[in-house]
Amino acid sequence: MRLTIDRDKQRVLEAEVNGTIYRLEGECLKCGACCVFKKDCQHLISEMWDGAAVRVCVIYQNRPHYCAYFPCDPNDAEAPEGCGFRWVKK
Ligand code: SF4
Ligand code: SF4
Repeated sequence: MRLTIDRDKQRVLEAEVNGTIYRLEGECLKCGACCVFKKDCQHLISEMWDGAAVRVCVIYQNRPHYCAYFPCDPNDAEAPEGCGFRWVKK
């Protein structure tokens, strides 16, 4: 797989898999579903913000590339429900 990445925006633009090119459309809705859809990540904590409970990544500035560039694999059929991104075959 070959990825085209916008490093300033920290997101994947396109992926080429076995000669097929996929474009990543949409945007991150900051829902945090990718932090819990396989299992709860140990770096995710709950905090109160303006009277509401929010979930926060405590290593956000140093989070793994997999997190920063999620979803980075068009073949990953396990994208969490509600994710604002979708892969489109070009
Ligand atoms: S490291 Fe942070 S961004 Fe990555 S899954 Fe854990 S909580 Fe989410
Ligand atoms: S599941 Fe998708 S929309 Fe939600 S935080 Fe992760 S990348 Fe963003």
